[in-house]
Amino acid sequence: MIEIDGSTGEGGGQILRTSLALSMCTGQPFALTRIRAGRPKPGLMRQHLTCVNAAAAVCGAQVLGAELSSQTLHFTPGPVRAGDYAFNVGTAGSCTLVLQTVWPALMMAEAPSRVKLGGGTHNPMAPPFHFLDRSYAPLLRRLGAEAELVLRRMGFYPAGGGEIEAVLWPARDLLQPFDLNERGALREAHAECFAPALPRSVARRELQQLGAGLGWHEAQLREAATRQNEGPGNALLATLVHEHVTEVFTAFGEKGVSAEQVAQAVVGEVRAYQASEAALGPHLTDQWALPLALALWQRGGKASFTCTELTPHARTNFEVIERFLPVRFSATPFGHEGSAWQVRALAL
Ligand code: ATP
Repeated sequence: MIEIDGSTGEGGGQILRTSLALSMCTGQPFALTRIRAGRPKPGLMRQHLTCVNAAAAVCGAQVLGAELSSQTLHFTPGPVRAGDYAFNVGTAGSCTLVLQTVWPALMMAEAPSRVKLGGGTHNPMAPPFHFLDRSYAPLLRRLGAEAELVLRRMGFYPAGGGEIEAVLWPARDLLQPFDLNERGALREAHAECFAPALPRSVARRELQQLGAGLGWHEAQLREAATRQNEGPGNALLATLVHEHVTEVFTAFGEKGVSAEQVAQAVVGEVRAYQASEAALGPHLTDQWALPLALALWQRGGKASFTCTELTPHARTNFEVIERFLPVRFSATPFGHEGSAWQVRALAL
């Protein structure tokens, strides 16, 4: 039984999701205590509980403590079963995080799986669908894990109601770790604004402000088509396609936040990325660690990547991964810009 204190490091829901994912992949049970203890509403929230239940469904786990607000969880996994699954958060909580919880286990299974997810598809503090589709999935494909993602309907806070479908192909025998130290040449950059059930002026103002802030042309600024019933909601995305990696930076509109502030948030993230030579932005860094570690576990050897910063999320995720897999992470400063790092991951 691997014992994990859920309040250490970053202390958020990612500790739970990484533990669930790697428990399923390795067959090792875990006990998680003090779940999200430092958060304003500690314990399992609806979104986290959906992750626990989804993981249990995928591997027939025995689970103790799977209740709302629970701060302790005992999870004993069974064998992962490929198949057709449907998981619904039931609120606007992020369903992309639910997908990321079961994805590693299902890609290690014997046959393809189809997963339908319901909930929020574009939430603050979670990977938006477009980030999973453009940034995360292509890296997994390059690792050997084929996946197809479809956005059926957008879901924003507070209404939710979003729908995603994912087909995940078996990859256990195909996984090959690789280095990701350079982003490569910029091939394309564009911004798009999703603003269902909001006045068109919102999208126009956000895009204009973003274009002015980044010096982007009109052709790079897109008002994305949405359906009225997907809103109200607002997400402004900037996508930078480089030769070896695609990054998606997102900010969300909400009441009391001006269109200009939303644009400024994205401009700030894009500029920080452009100021660096590292391959991965902060979110991709913490999310890339787990699939890379799985590939190293399967194949042995080592791999490295560079990142614009090492967030508490990333460092905490490295630590949790090291509890489950015989893989070790180390980081050394990289480049001249001060905050960038090169991370080396080594199979023991
Ligand atoms: P908490 O306990 O803090 O409420 P949580 O369960 O909502 O946590 P976190 O532990 O904060 O989630 O993890 C959020 C995950 O979402 C991290 O992997 C982070 O990198 C990712 N993420 C957050 N914002 C974005 C974004 N804009 N684009 C891509 N990924 C994001």
